[in-house]
Amino acid sequence: MSAFGYTDESPAGGGEDGQRRAGHWNDRPRHHCGLFGVYGVPDAARVLLRGLMALQHRGEEGAGVAVSDGRVVRAVRAMGLVAEMAERNAAELAALRGRIGIGHVRYSTTGASDLRNVQPIAVECRDGVWAIAHNGNLTNAAELRARCQALGAIFQTGTDSEILLHMLAHPRFVRRPSPLVAALKTLRGAFSFLLLHRDELIAVRDRYGFRPLCLGRLGGGHVIASESCALHQVGAEFVREIEPGEILRIGPGGLTRETFAAARARAGQCVFEHIYFARPDSRLFGEGVHELRVRFGRRLAQEHPVRADVVIPIPDSGVSAGIGFARETGLPLDFGFIRNHYIGRTFIQPSSAERTDAADLKLAIVADVVRGRRVVVVDDSLVRGTTVRRRVRALREAGATEVHVRIASPPVRWPCHFGIDFPTRSELAAATRAPDEIAEIIGADTLGYLSLHGLRAELSQPYRYCTGCFTGRYPEPVRSAAPKFAFEPLLEAATEAHR
Ligand code: 5GP
Ligand code: MG
Repeated sequence: MSAFGYTDESPAGGGEDGQRRAGHWNDRPRHHCGLFGVYGVPDAARVLLRGLMALQHRGEEGAGVAVSDGRVVRAVRAMGLVAEMAERNAAELAALRGRIGIGHVRYSTTGASDLRNVQPIAVECRDGVWAIAHNGNLTNAAELRARCQALGAIFQTGTDSEILLHMLAHPRFVRRPSPLVAALKTLRGAFSFLLLHRDELIAVRDRYGFRPLCLGRLGGGHVIASESCALHQVGAEFVREIEPGEILRIGPGGLTRETFAAARARAGQCVFEHIYFARPDSRLFGEGVHELRVRFGRRLAQEHPVRADVVIPIPDSGVSAGIGFARETGLPLDFGFIRNHYIGRTFIQPSSAERTDAADLKLAIVADVVRGRRVVVVDDSLVRGTTVRRRVRALREAGATEVHVRIASPPVRWPCHFGIDFPTRSELAAATRAPDEIAEIIGADTLGYLSLHGLRAELSQPYRYCTGCFTGRYPEPVRSAAPKFAFEPLLEAATEAHR
């Protein structure tokens, strides 16, 4: 039983779902993925791999690329990190010739049969090959999937992303002046897509702009990436973000843009991209991520000052905010935790005890920094509270005299339907508890969260964000949120080759 009254082993619901949902972040299904695409770039496959490596933080369970030589599309997909995928498939990757391609990094469920869910997904339709890579979560996926199946579609993956391909292949959509526009109009929820079709690279962002996507220039060609850090990695220059509701086509005739839906006045950019997902060296939704997190940390210090001796951020996600907190208070910032970089990979551990061990292996304490001191621990977010609870205990064991926890975002109270896998309400520490109660459970002397007002005040365009995980008010109503495992296969496929 965890401190919050649910077991790590089988959360509410139990059964097979419960088993598969067991554990912490790393073995839960994820939809926050990373996208990278290239057009008119020599040696597309190599550039794609470099770009994907810079997006590895957005998904470490599977990676893939699809490259077109103008006629034939070849794809390589594998479980694991981009570097592992590249190493294991060196010969196949060397054979990928072409100047157009898309790539994807993914967080997904565990298990060997999952390779079928690794993207890009490529299929051959009457009008040629379509390859697709998706970041986000469709909220009407269950309904659309059932409709496609009623019309005879045979799904090959357990992803919601495949739905778009079935629509693009269906006569109902093929008949329309723009099948892609017609299909996109039916999708609800969050989607940034990269599509590869014939001699075109197509980038799409949903009408609310939940997930990021940006355009860069590389030599005479173009690249598209989830985050600008990947543009820099390949030497591309940032041009602009794809607009909410925009379809950008890059083809032999140049760039053409089209909208499939008016961008909503109250847009829905995910504020958690700024808080946690994005890499600090990215510029995203018009903000520099590191600088913004530093400002969150400063404001957190103004809202919840504390007498202490040292500020210790939890690496890596709490570092920028910790710097801000220290700057604002004038307290020294120190390395209280050292991250073991070799434990970065997902641990698939059979028991909760082993998973806990794995998580504890990741962060070690520098006892000399904390012994006999009053410590402020800064982290970016508190979701279930298990991470920080372990850290507080470790700090006390290492001799900290007081432990004050400061969280650089508001209390997460509501689930996310738009691509962050926040657990059900019962698993969210703050869903029904006041900060004082949480402080007691995690064993902290005090606990302070950045207020929603404070968070919004630091954003240059606060009205353009979704803050549904804090407020329960979402930019788009969710009618039929598909249960997370609605699409788990009834047929267990054997593991395929890495292609
Ligand atoms: P908790 O232990 O409270 O459930 O999780 C909070 C910690 O997990 C924070 O350190 C935060 O950086 C991290 N975190 C927040 N959201 C996510 C997520 O979606 N995926 C992963 N891997 N970590 C997350
Ligand atoms: Mg963290």
